[in-house]
Amino acid sequence: MLNIAIDGPAGAGKSTIAKLIAKKYDIIYLDTGAMYRGAAYFCMQNNVSPKDHREVERLLPKLDMDIIYEQGVQKVFVSKEDVTPNLREVAMSQAASDVSKIPSVRIKLVEIQREIASKRDCVLDGRDIGSYVLPNATIKFYLTADEKVRANRRFLEYKEKGVETSEELVLKDMQARDAQDTNRDFAPLKIVSDAIVIDSTDLTINEVICKMSERIDGVINS
Ligand code: C5P
Repeated sequence: MLNIAIDGPAGAGKSTIAKLIAKKYDIIYLDTGAMYRGAAYFCMQNNVSPKDHREVERLLPKLDMDIIYEQGVQKVFVSKEDVTPNLREVAMSQAASDVSKIPSVRIKLVEIQREIASKRDCVLDGRDIGSYVLPNATIKFYLTADEKVRANRRFLEYKEKGVETSEELVLKDMQARDAQDTNRDFAPLKIVSDAIVIDSTDLTINEVICKMSERIDGVINS
């Protein structure tokens, strides 16, 4: 089984790169962030604050999440409803980070992630893929970039989608999430010793793909 892990902080370009890698190697892309966003959405739908650990834990058994691929595109279903279009909203990012601090939430979602990765060749992006979800992944990347560059890229993405925000707000949101994701007790964001670190500050998307492909081809052909 080919399992490619891409971890890194917010706005590093993980999802853009992971989608292109999936296409190039004809494998699926599992966006694990979307799953935490789906869990946060479910809490909000049920009037439970993603910060309220006790209430989230009470609600968790009712969370019925399915990851479905339609023409190769991942959809997140919660209670049999496709909630994918609701997950990229700005408020959902921080809510996902809040809910992802709760160990029982992670355990539930990681089980689904491991199940998918055990059955299909895939590239997964997230925060804990190489360190916790798939410590034996075929190859692990840690993708990062200068904080201001990441904020600027994310801001331009939002602008293109017509989302009203400012570059300062995006930077603040990213800093808050990165701090929370790095400092949580359970499966925090970190660079594992066997990860290949790629700093994309001065690289184009194509250059990142080339660097990763060299390493992936090396492993596949060894
Ligand atoms: O990657 P994305 O920005 O969609 O992730 C949203 C949030 O979900 C992150 O800030 C992080 O708190 C959480 N997350 C996580 N572990 C993952 C993927 C995402 O904790 N594997």
